Amino acid sequence: MIRAIKGTRDIFSPEVEKWQLAERNAREICALYGYTEIRTPIFEATELFARGIGEITDIVTKQMYTFQDGDDRITLRPENTAPVVRAFVENGMDNEPTITKLYYIGPMFRRERPQKGRYRQFSQFGIEVLGTENPAVDAEVIELLMRFIGSTQVLEYRLELNSVGCSIDRPRYTAKLQELLRPQKEKMCADCQDRIERNPLRVLDCKVEADQPIIDALPAIDEFLEEGCKIHFAAVQKYLAMSNITYTRNKRLVRGLDYYTRTAFEVIAGGLGSQNAVAGGGRYDKLVEELGGKPTTGIGFALGLDRLILAMPESAREPGGVKVFIVAMSDAAFDYAYEKIQAPLRQNGIGCEVDYQRRSVKAAMRQADKRGVDWTILVGEDEMKDNAATLKNMKGGEQQRVSINELVEKLK
Ligand code: AMP
Repeated sequence: MIRAIKGTRDIFSPEVEKWQLAERNAREICALYGYTEIRTPIFEATELFARGIGEITDIVTKQMYTFQDGDDRITLRPENTAPVVRAFVENGMDNEPTITKLYYIGPMFRRERPQKGRYRQFSQFGIEVLGTENPAVDAEVIELLMRFIGSTQVLEYRLELNSVGCSIDRPRYTAKLQELLRPQKEKMCADCQDRIERNPLRVLDCKVEADQPIIDALPAIDEFLEEGCKIHFAAVQKYLAMSNITYTRNKRLVRGLDYYTRTAFEVIAGGLGSQNAVAGGGRYDKLVEELGGKPTTGIGFALGLDRLILAMPESAREPGGVKVFIVAMSDAAFDYAYEKIQAPLRQNGIGCEVDYQRRSVKAAMRQADKRGVDWTILVGEDEMKDNAATLKNMKGGEQQRVSINELVEKLK
């Protein structure tokens, strides 16, 4: 047997109805806030991700699916901010005087060790706003995210917020971190030893138990933030308060690359074990320039749909379309049901299915039950003679004889 590739999986009913609900809500909420959809290619030039995510990140150094295509190096997209920014620049949206608000839903690819909530092909729903520094937009992006998660009936989740400063204050902060960390370097994990030299901010991200006392003792970025960043962060918090959004301040929440600036946030959900981050986002005021566009500020988030779906309750799903299951008790009754009942119901928008398997009535009723329909229609010789059908309510169990002409009216 040929199996699906490690870290990939098939999604079908009943799980797929949860996806459908989440995707529909995402589209509706984006429309409510004025975001339009963008669909970018699944593969892009490798260089886009090297520049757009950063050469020194785990994604770029270890996790990308990259292959040679003629003279080109191509990569399956591991995330979608860099592709959206590429499309923004390539399509001249950076020449528009208006701001650009986009959303996307689609698969991403990372060669990670698969486990619950972590796959090699997974899907993200994300949004990006380009062209404004207004802190109210930071709050809007977060509000949209929280509203979306709430709409999927996930109950346990929390928002963590931080500011990572900008190119003025961050060098001062990272220099301070290096100064404080270098003398203790030998006591820290191998990754941190490397990070202290290459990307000290990333030390704050370390999860190794033994390193925690050292990291906890480090200063927060607050005292290093320049005036503009301080004012911006305070304003983001003001707008979040206006929207009644609660959060915890996580001074260790970082995005390690220079083009990520100011606002950074993450949403953590309960009941997911170690892979409990459902969404992350923040500002990237230098990324458009980095990718060859006119200086344009940006902010967005990416939410992992696979993880969100794991956190959604069973009740959160798109309802099935079939409301009626039709059971025939003879060959003639089958033809009668096929022609005179099924077709008019569908024409009137009432989803129905006729029992093709034609086993016993008992087996057919079991099928109807399993499909979760509201009604069963039974037809035999008697019903045919009267131009009627027997309608059974699957919830209450009561049955009634209804004339064919009244069937549609009754079921509506
Ligand atoms: P990131 O692009 O790394 O900030 O990730 C954003 C969100 O995507 C995370 O919070 C996860 O919910 C989701 N995600 C990232 N990597 C994976 C993966 N390998 N499998 C499933 N979900 C993922």
